[in-house]
Amino acid sequence: MLQICHIQFDAQILSSPIEFLKGVGPLRGDLLKKELQLFTFKDLLDHFPIRHIDKTMVMTIGSIQSNQDYIQVAGIIQSVQLIGQNRAKRLVAELKDATGSMDLVWFQGISWIQKNIQVGQALLVYGKAGYFNGSLQITHPEMETYTPAKAGGKAFLEPIYPSTEKLKAKALGGRQLGKLSYTLLEALQERDLPENLPPAILQAYRFPSRFEAYRQIHFPQSEAAYQKALARLKFEELFIAQLRLALIKLERHRYSRGVVFKQVGEQFNTFYHTYLPFELTGAQKRVLKEIRQDMGQGRQMNRLLQGDVGSGKTMVALLSMLLAVDNGFQASLMAPTEILAAQHYEGIAQLLKDMPVKTALLTGSTKAAARRKILKELADGELDLLIGTHAVLEDPVQFKQLGLAIIDEQHRFGVAQRARLWKKATIPPHVLVMTATPIPRTLAMTAYGDLDYSIIDELPPGRQPITTVHRYDYARASVMDFIKEEIQKGRQAYCIFPLIEESEKLDLENLMRGYENIKAFFPEPRYWISMVHGKMPPAQKEANMQRFIKKETQIMVATTVIEVGVNVPNASVMIIESAEKFGLSQLHQLRGRVGRGSEKSFCILLTGAQLTNEARERLKIMCATNDGFLIAEKDLELRGPGDIEGTRQSGLLNFKLADLVRDKQWLDAAKQESAKLLETDPDLALQENNALKIYLQAQKGKLAWSKIS
Ligand code: ADP
Ligand code: MG
Repeated sequence: MLQICHIQFDAQILSSPIEFLKGVGPLRGDLLKKELQLFTFKDLLDHFPIRHIDKTMVMTIGSIQSNQDYIQVAGIIQSVQLIGQNRAKRLVAELKDATGSMDLVWFQGISWIQKNIQVGQALLVYGKAGYFNGSLQITHPEMETYTPAKAGGKAFLEPIYPSTEKLKAKALGGRQLGKLSYTLLEALQERDLPENLPPAILQAYRFPSRFEAYRQIHFPQSEAAYQKALARLKFEELFIAQLRLALIKLERHRYSRGVVFKQVGEQFNTFYHTYLPFELTGAQKRVLKEIRQDMGQGRQMNRLLQGDVGSGKTMVALLSMLLAVDNGFQASLMAPTEILAAQHYEGIAQLLKDMPVKTALLTGSTKAAARRKILKELADGELDLLIGTHAVLEDPVQFKQLGLAIIDEQHRFGVAQRARLWKKATIPPHVLVMTATPIPRTLAMTAYGDLDYSIIDELPPGRQPITTVHRYDYARASVMDFIKEEIQKGRQAYCIFPLIEESEKLDLENLMRGYENIKAFFPEPRYWISMVHGKMPPAQKEANMQRFIKKETQIMVATTVIEVGVNVPNASVMIIESAEKFGLSQLHQLRGRVGRGSEKSFCILLTGAQLTNEARERLKIMCATNDGFLIAEKDLELRGPGDIEGTRQSGLLNFKLADLVRDKQWLDAAKQESAKLLETDPDLALQENNALKIYLQAQKGKLAWSKIS
């Protein structure tokens, strides 16, 4: 078995500290580390250009259209002046060519520029052109001394890199960084960057070699060569990621032992035929079957269950837990908040009240005596089901035979916490993670490629879609009138405030103002209002929540603490204040708190009059659809994958080059190729996959490769 830490794939030279590169040195080295996290030669190599400019393509100033994006011009400096004071202070230089003149403007690093720029100097200037107060200018341009390109010379695509103001001031601007990557590439040979993709893939897609791709992505010979290099490196990135996840899954499937749930027994059957209050939806049945098969195979289940809010995940959880009981095991269900755990407990205890299945609730606020009793019964095996919060993960909580652990609303639980579960039994229990944050399918497969995956893509019958509307603040009075009518009919309403400021104090003040405002519309004793927010002691939170659940209050004023899972079917209206400040998936989660009963439900998105285009788009989508998966797709388009809730911490979606939305074609290809490869050579034992195998083993960090030898 190979030891991970000694495996080397790329040549030693690439792990050299950045300061050792010619032209860097300790000072600039420190700056590169701090500003761009470039620590080694390889980091610099992976610092890809944002674009290229054709150095021989110089525009004339007179031909520049307004806001023409990035341009390159050459001219003579006519004047250099310091203008304005304090924050408006700036350095302005006039640059003139045969066709016109324009301004070059600096707000920062002024003294450095002043020293380095003179009237009469001929400069080649590059940057983003735009009009300001009617005059054409480039702010903070890249500059170099102008020497006319030889006539008839070949186009030279010069790379421009991401950089920072601090680096620019040390002559390491976006253009100057190219000198460093040029130096580096000159020093490298083909064998320093060996090929990692199997030959068949290289041929099938006509990819350039890895070495060639790196050269061409930095210093392309032509636009076409650049595109080829880019495609190869994107594919490589996605392919390696897919393969790593698939290998983890494969390894788990092959090597992990799991408790076997052989039979569907008495408890499951009795419950299913006697106490199940409704017919399961087709999707619930299908998912249950997937889970049952998975738990009966002798390997540990590690499954992600996705289902939109209200799709009935809890019932799937309960039935799966009964399967555990039928096979002589205990099961546990964990929720991220006490309120949720209590709701699950009450719901499940009610459903099981005539059955010989013993259930308990364990949270941080369980009293010491009750807790002792629970722990004892759990260890003795008297308790069948334990429902609770993180408290279930604590060390003193020992099961006699934990067979299944279910985690509800997964994104609040970290991977490390999931791992703690495994230690609670000699053979790790089956794990089912349920999430209500719909992630687009393509993304889920990428982010959770190491998990098995089930989806409930159907809502129970008879659900009325929630009517969602957008109203401006100035229409507040009529919105409140509408809520009065609903309350008149016996309904209840949520009023949600965003957490927006940096400071909790400001958020709280904001909420209090909102509360007073609502109270002015709904005076006591005719109306009663509950309030819940994150800073409230849990007991008080619980008490206020309970008053709302028991219909003692008609209105619940809350921050996003109620986002997840709360179930009050009689609540049929939700107002979301400052709705423009919420992201799509959060709006969808919040809205899922209404529309849980048989009554027609409404969601009113209140906003100020000033809206960005993106906010407007979000509101439009919310008003147009109730479909969480569709919303997730839109969210992905609007924000990019890095921001999708629940995937952020996985880090798996932060690709350097690939973009999961725009490069879907490469993602599909990568998936297909990795599946094909593992089908024929799951151990990467074939000669042609040897380089790939060593490359994967050399990728240190995140994953354990101990089983792949
Ligand atoms: P979520 O998936 O958001 O956790 P829940 O499990 O809380 O959804 O279910 C939402 C509501 O739908 C609950 O009141 C539940 O009893 C009900 N429900 C679940 N499955 C069905 C079904 N097949 N038919 C009718 N109602 C159902
Ligand atoms: Mg739920």
